[in-house]
Amino acid sequence: MAKSTQTTFSYEFGGPIGALATMLLLPVVIVLLILWSDLGHITFDTKSLHSTFVSLGGEDIEMYWTCVKVLGGWLSGTVLLTFLLPGQIRSGVKITRSSLPSFSLNYLLNGHLQFWTTLLSLFLGCSLNFKRTVCSAPANSSFFLSWSEPAAVISTSLTYEITFSSPFQTLSQLHTLLFPLSITTIVFSFLFSIFLYVKSFSKNAILAEGGNSGNLIYDLFIGRELNPRLVNDPVSEKTKHNYIFNSLRDFDLKQFCELKPGLIAWVVLDLAMLAKQHQTLGHITGSMILLTLNQSLYVWDALYNEISILTTMDITTDGFGYMLAFGDLAWVPFTYSIQAYYLVKHDPNLSPISLLLIAGLNMLGYKIFRGANTQKDVFRRDPDSEACKEWEYIDTKRGTKLLTSGWWGIARKVNYTGDWLMGLSWCLVCGGGSIVPYFYAIYFTILLVHRSIRDDHFCSVKYGDDWGRYKEKVPYRFVPLIF
Ligand code: NDP
Repeated sequence: MAKSTQTTFSYEFGGPIGALATMLLLPVVIVLLILWSDLGHITFDTKSLHSTFVSLGGEDIEMYWTCVKVLGGWLSGTVLLTFLLPGQIRSGVKITRSSLPSFSLNYLLNGHLQFWTTLLSLFLGCSLNFKRTVCSAPANSSFFLSWSEPAAVISTSLTYEITFSSPFQTLSQLHTLLFPLSITTIVFSFLFSIFLYVKSFSKNAILAEGGNSGNLIYDLFIGRELNPRLVNDPVSEKTKHNYIFNSLRDFDLKQFCELKPGLIAWVVLDLAMLAKQHQTLGHITGSMILLTLNQSLYVWDALYNEISILTTMDITTDGFGYMLAFGDLAWVPFTYSIQAYYLVKHDPNLSPISLLLIAGLNMLGYKIFRGANTQKDVFRRDPDSEACKEWEYIDTKRGTKLLTSGWWGIARKVNYTGDWLMGLSWCLVCGGGSIVPYFYAIYFTILLVHRSIRDDHFCSVKYGDDWGRYKEKVPYRFVPLIF
């Protein structure tokens, strides 16, 4: 039986109706954003939207079939690499349930290696061409493999000629596929959340406290199971040394989806848009280069600091349902790459000085974001370490200390401020011609404000009066003296 300690329940996100509305609305936002980015402006004119829908392959069944294969290949490739690449096993934060002794789960960390391996494989996969030719003697090519094939006519030599070509050609095809691929991924993430919901009723599943309301729609949206794994059984004497059992047990579906398929796909989509721009304009613009570099830095950072995810709200508190599955697999790659998609057709030709200022804004955001997240991570991991010696904090009845100096003395959610500044810089590279690419900054403001309110609520429950004392010491949420 699934274990839960639920006694009272308070809904978030507007309860079941809000959850249903969000589930239906967000896919429509993805579709509209891609159509509007292609058009370069917002329109609700159904004729214009429909013709763009058709021109982007929205009615082409064959394209959907190709997308199913692309998505299937991508997902199986990312899963396979996770299992094949070496990594470290680290334990997550303590999980406490009144019906169980407190415990932590293991997590497999190899995201950074996977990031580079994927990009390298993609580069090689898109630039190497294997041509199988039958001839009596090997061709005089600089790159070829040749061997005799006994089953073939004995005197015939089969030559596999390997040639290099620009990876841009193959990669740019993702631009053509983007629209049907987004719809295919949306459908997949919905089916995947149904699977997660059903799986949450399996034996030994640990439920998220906020995702077990008993209302099907709400629980499907928020996610019932806290850390779904392919195997839930506890380790026993019999399974202790079973490699396959342990690998499946440490493979956390939520952590995997948070970091790998969607985030790396975002970089791949950016690169595909860059390739498409090169193909259509004959060169790559400064905006496109800056955007791709900045967004790749963001993704690289998340994977380089993979361990930090173990202390985030997504991993420690939220269940794994539609909200995160759709968010990780469909929302992140297809809406976060929208600026790159926009730039393919509507580059604003920004001056070098504007690009330099935007690059500076991104770096400022990154410094705040990384500085704050690292400070908290180091402090949470070992508050008595040498690195934390100078930092001020308040003690709490809960036992965990709250930082009140350094980045965390400036504002309570200064890490969100840094993140938002980076997001704003990604929009600014698209110039002032349309509001469409500014979607990210607008959406991210809503997400971060809502998330900070949620976290404030969770912390006031976790820390009681101490949270009030902390808020008196660090009174501002995002920007000192303003907000
Ligand atoms: P935080 O990293 O801010 O984590 C919140 C938790 O940190 C609190 O619940 C509390 O947990 C602990 N905490 C809060 N204040 C202090 C303090 N003063 N000292 C020590 N610990 C403290 O939030 P998130 O997990 O939401 O975000 C992590 C990062 O991910 C952020 O930089 C955010 O911008 C980014 N993000 C990006 C998204 C995107 O789509 N690009 C989406 C969501 C987040 P406890 O006390 O129990 O340890």
